[in-house]
Amino acid sequence: MSDCIFCKIINGDFGTEFVYENEYAVVFKDINPKADIHLLVVPKKHVESLNELDDEVLLSKLMLTVKDVTKKEGIKSYRTVINTGKEAGQEVFHLHIHILAGKMK
Ligand code: 5GP
Ligand code: ZN
Repeated sequence: MSDCIFCKIINGDFGTEFVYENEYAVVFKDINPKADIHLLVVPKKHVESLNELDDEVLLSKLMLTVKDVTKKEGIKSYRTVINTGKEAGQEVFHLHIHILAGKMK
C-alpha cells in the first residue's frame, strides 16, 4: 500500500537495513526498541493485521521466519508479540511480529 510505512521500508525507500530476508518476509530493528534486542518480522505482502490474515502458508512462514532469524542471530530466549487492533496498541497497520530479547526497557 502506497501510504504504508512498512511497505515503504520493504520497498527500500528509507534504506532500512534488513537483519534477515526471505521470500515471504523481511526482518529489521525496531526504531524505538523496547528491549536490548527488538526486531520486527514483517510480511512482504501488505496485510493490515492478524485479523485480516487468511493465508495459511504465510502464517506459518512468518513463524518459521521468527525461528530462522533468532537462530541466525544466536538469540536463544525471546518473546514474540503481535499487537492486533488499536486498543491493543497496534500503531502500524501492516502485520508484524515483535521479537524481544534481553532486558526490557
Ligand atoms: P505496533 O505498536 O504497531 O505493534 O508496533 C509498531 C512498531 O513499529 C513500534 O514498535 C515502532 O517503534 C516501530 N516503528 C514505527 N515506525 C518505524 C520505522 O519507520 N522504522 C522502524 N524500524 N520501526 C518503526
Ligand atoms: Zn504495508
